Amino acid sequence: MADVLAFESVNVFYGPLQALKNVSLTVAEGETVALIGANGAGKSTLLMSIFGQPRIASGEIRYRGEPISHKSTHFIAANGIAQAPEGRRIFADMTVEENMQMGTIAIGNRHQKEDLERMYALFPRLLERRKQRAMTLSGGEQQMLAIARALMSRPSLLLLDEPSLGLAPIVVKQIFTILRELTAQGMTLFLVEQNARHALKLADRGYVMVNGEIRLSGSGAELLNNEEVRSAYLGGG
Ligand code: ATP
Repeated sequence: MADVLAFESVNVFYGPLQALKNVSLTVAEGETVALIGANGAGKSTLLMSIFGQPRIASGEIRYRGEPISHKSTHFIAANGIAQAPEGRRIFADMTVEENMQMGTIAIGNRHQKEDLERMYALFPRLLERRKQRAMTLSGGEQQMLAIARALMSRPSLLLLDEPSLGLAPIVVKQIFTILRELTAQGMTLFLVEQNARHALKLADRGYVMVNGEIRLSGSGAELLNNEEVRSAYLGGG
């Protein structure tokens, strides 16, 4: 399968601090790939660099073979990459449905009705809450809304930054069940997670980032069984 996303020897600096060191990775069409690592490893930086902030110092980021490191954020969003951000930056004063409608702006609202129905089928909870203001949703519901909003742009690559952050274990399970459904539908997913167990169980392949470098890579199952991963990210369990 062709690569949807590829990092080729990417270096990123914040002043004197090198946040990404010679990072190479790929995400193929239809694949689910997880990037795991501790706080401060550089995971968010890597995701943000796809949208050009921060700019990369050297190397290249390709989307479907095309270099994108000098494209605008708008170009990238309009061409099929969507992100459900960490911290669930939803529009607090808008209703659930209005938030989802905002997600179609990048593609010009063409399939809004059909897509809303698709999202409500995937997230029945959001259907129940559709007229409710987003700020009144629970953390898990806000995360669902952030994912649904990203999906409303019909992305061909969905990026997720810590979808389990701050959620109760049962809610994390619900979110991952939905992600599993998405991958079964053929969505290409690139997921950044501290919750290594859930992420690696879901993923076809994974990468482990340490101090801005890719330390390990392999299938989800290989990494789940790797000694270093087990002791550092799976609580030895
Ligand atoms: P977390 O899981 O805690 O979000 P992370 O793996 O996503 O961590 P990053 O947020 O990418 O890590 O940070 C990587 C390193 O770059 C950290 O040392 C961080 O302090 C530093 N860093 C991140 N953003 C900036 C910035 N805007 N200016 C300076 N340094 C930054």
